[in-house]
Amino acid sequence: MITPRVTRLVRVPDLSTFRSTIVDLATAGAPLEARRRLVVVPTRAAAEHVLRSIERRVLVAGAAVGLPDFVTPRELIPRLGERLPGVPGVLLDTEREVLAGRACGTAIAEGCEPPFHLRPGLIAEIVRFYDSLRRHLKTIDAFERLSLGMLEPGALDDRGAERLVRQTRFLVSAFRHFERLVESTGRVDEHMLRRQLMATVASSPCEHVVLTVGDDAFDRHGLCAADWDLLSRLPGLARLDVVATDANIAGAFHEKIHQLLPGIEEVRVPGADGSTSPALVVGDGPGMTWTARDREEEVAGFARWVRRMMREGVPEVSSLDRIALVVHQPLPYVYLAREVLHSARIPCQMFDALPLASEPYAAALDLLITSVTGNFSRVQLVSLLRSPHFRFGPDDAPLASREVSALDRELSEAGYLGEIEALNRLIDTWSNSSRQSKGLRAARAIASAMMELQPLRAAAPCGEHLDRLLTFLSRYERLPHVDDPLRPRLLRARSAIRDTLVGLRNAYAQFDDAPLDFEVVTAVIRRWIEAHTFAPRSGDAGVHLVDAASAPYGDFDAVQLAGLVDGEWPAAPRRNIFYPPSLLRELGWPGESERLDAVRSAFGDLLRLARTRVRASAFTLEDDAIVPASTLVDAIPTANLTTMADPVMSPVSIFDYEALAVEPVYLDALDPTARAAAVRRTEMTRTHQTGSTAGHVQDAHSLSALERYQDCPFKFFAADVMKLEEPPEDQPTMSPKARGRFVHEVFQKFFEAWDARGQGTIDVDHLDEARELFEEVADSLLAQFSDAEAALERARLFGSAIAVGVVDVVLGLEASRPTAVRERWLERRFEGSFSLGVPDGPRVSLKGVADRVDLMDGNRLRVIDYKSGYPPNPKRALQVSIYGLCAQELLEGRDGEPWTVDEAAYVAFAGKKPLVPVVRPGGDPGALASARERVIELAGAIAKGEFPPRPFELRICGYCAFPSVCRKDYVGDE
Ligand code: SF4
Repeated sequence: MITPRVTRLVRVPDLSTFRSTIVDLATAGAPLEARRRLVVVPTRAAAEHVLRSIERRVLVAGAAVGLPDFVTPRELIPRLGERLPGVPGVLLDTEREVLAGRACGTAIAEGCEPPFHLRPGLIAEIVRFYDSLRRHLKTIDAFERLSLGMLEPGALDDRGAERLVRQTRFLVSAFRHFERLVESTGRVDEHMLRRQLMATVASSPCEHVVLTVGDDAFDRHGLCAADWDLLSRLPGLARLDVVATDANIAGAFHEKIHQLLPGIEEVRVPGADGSTSPALVVGDGPGMTWTARDREEEVAGFARWVRRMMREGVPEVSSLDRIALVVHQPLPYVYLAREVLHSARIPCQMFDALPLASEPYAAALDLLITSVTGNFSRVQLVSLLRSPHFRFGPDDAPLASREVSALDRELSEAGYLGEIEALNRLIDTWSNSSRQSKGLRAARAIASAMMELQPLRAAAPCGEHLDRLLTFLSRYERLPHVDDPLRPRLLRARSAIRDTLVGLRNAYAQFDDAPLDFEVVTAVIRRWIEAHTFAPRSGDAGVHLVDAASAPYGDFDAVQLAGLVDGEWPAAPRRNIFYPPSLLRELGWPGESERLDAVRSAFGDLLRLARTRVRASAFTLEDDAIVPASTLVDAIPTANLTTMADPVMSPVSIFDYEALAVEPVYLDALDPTARAAAVRRTEMTRTHQTGSTAGHVQDAHSLSALERYQDCPFKFFAADVMKLEEPPEDQPTMSPKARGRFVHEVFQKFFEAWDARGQGTIDVDHLDEARELFEEVADSLLAQFSDAEAALERARLFGSAIAVGVVDVVLGLEASRPTAVRERWLERRFEGSFSLGVPDGPRVSLKGVADRVDLMDGNRLRVIDYKSGYPPNPKRALQVSIYGLCAQELLEGRDGEPWTVDEAAYVAFAGKKPLVPVVRPGGDPGALASARERVIELAGAIAKGEFPPRPFELRICGYCAFPSVCRKDYVGDE
């Protein structure tokens, strides 16, 4: 049944007439007539702009108008379907994808193996390809016939063609099963709904359609062949108006529209009297485009232009909302513009949708998912505990952040690498230990929550996995406070994400209960969230940020066309992953040259979009790579616009950072919080020298801290004055701290046992006995480790085919010296004020523990320090020499006789030389005097508060734990 109708191509000369014609057609007739009218616009943002134009007209005319329904091409079929009586439910996209997954599985089970591994992302692509085929009016039979007809002749001797044949057979089989499955649900999809729309008269039919988009061959927001076919035969449709500018019609679209709608009548709407083209604003340099270094600078240039027009009161630009920044693709401009324009105090409004995946709630969900796939590793558990989106632990006694930091450190020290069972074992150990664990409460809270997610690590139906995830989210999520300004946006993003998860859960629960690994479910969730956009209404006043498809619907005085770079304007074509362009052409896909012609003509229209001024801009760097300018730049001179020089940009500071960074500093430009911080900071800069404090009082200096100061004064400041803790790291084996403890313990226990036997000095005759005892002691301590760790530590202690064991170095050291050991101080603590060998010199307060001091015949002493890692540079090391001097002072006080430091050395587990002497056997007064002088100098600098970032060697910064708090830029100034 075909309803007699008027079909018109309404040609307009420019975008101003385009907009007024759309408003005329949208509001024509009595208000009630509008209810039977659909206006098809490319995007929701375009609809918002048309509505604003209608509101303005109503304000001026003072008459009521009826508003039609504005739809995008994607919404057209469902919206028409709503008018049909008795339409069964429409299948959701999630449900169709689940059905497609089942159809693919059935095709494979029947022997139609695809030449690729079937992943969730590919199933989505398969559905997209099926939809494209149907939108190009191709049945599955036609697809099979045309594709195999082209591919099969070459498949015998061409492996590529043979793969495509296998792929086609698989796709054909999957599509047929898919159609059967869709039918078996008793519901409809877009393609079935189109058929029903053509066969049934709607109860309240749409009588008038105003099309403001073109064909999808020319316009990425255009109608597909199936839509044109439907509109040409839709029962009840009495009038179809296609509105297009002359530039749009000038190309192949003119011929195409006559093919699509045979007999279409052409009418022409003249432009308004006196309408003129805008002036093209150009800079000092050659060319007609403003070129910035990167996108951020490009938006900053726009902000300066806007502020300048407002400052100078340009009469043709009446207000901020008459100015627009037009971009071809909104990302990343939507984020950049928000930051840059906010910094310049320019309000901004945009109607564009943002990716849902970039919302904080999506990041929180991702964290949850990663903690399961990462087997509950330390970093993920601690991130979950710190996330503002979750709440763990009892409500009446919430976890403090110091408890979470303590857990982080304790997990790292315990070498925890994941697995909920390992976490529970650690909790048992900590609960029964006499040493109080500060992170125990946090550990219990997160372990009990993670137990609820543990079942996700086993395969289960996707619906069950998703249900568990949703239950967890409901139980543990934390919503922002009602006064939080971010709350509405977070709640909207949360609801969009939860709706996606619920849709997926219901679809799988209904149509596919095959068990899946959580990794597969994760891929499905991520893909769906990444495919979704989210439209947070941002701003309702100020300059517009608008995409190129929506811009023609907005009424602006001044416009900047931004991002004129290669690959973006025009956008690179979306590649079909299944077939080459030659085969796709046979299947009805449009050609690339037609698309590019349409982009050029649309760009020509956009150059004349503004009423008075237009600028075009590009940038040269993207992620440090040079980006060439768009070929559309060449079209600017041919637009024959009058140019208007805008020679020198104003030097006036407009951004927050300029208020702070450019003299004179202008703090009043900042908001109160930032201003208070800036006042404090500038006052500090005026009164304090950078890298210094008023002074620092230290009761007693530890030698390791003095060595840290020697390496870099700021490192000392961060660790020993500010008491910042180094971020813990996961180690596949024991942490350096734990290994240090083990090494010290094993040597301490050995020498205690040896001395308890009364054996005295370890000489050559007793070496084997000493080694045996050492093995005994070491074995009992190694038993606490896993087999792998124990084997590693054993090799370090006892050596291997390629390395000498540390025990041989330690025992050999004593055996090779002729002097007998009278007494041994093990883990000896020194604390107090020491003169360090110069009784009438300045004294220094020190504290520390020497690993081992051997008191030998002849009142000589030997200091040994064990290093589980690399030894320090002997010329800069302090510990062993200073411990020697401290011991010397204590012994002289005790015995009333002089003592001398005979030897001081490090025994290291890593590095080329296990024994690193600092004071060589026989004594080295020069080395001891140097260590003493350095300690006195360092203590003096600390007392004065000198803490500049001044690494002894720049490579120290490479493994320093405090780069995030260090103002390293001072390094070069020192
Ligand atoms: S990053 Fe470098 S300059 Fe900064 S504290 Fe560490 S070692 Fe010193």
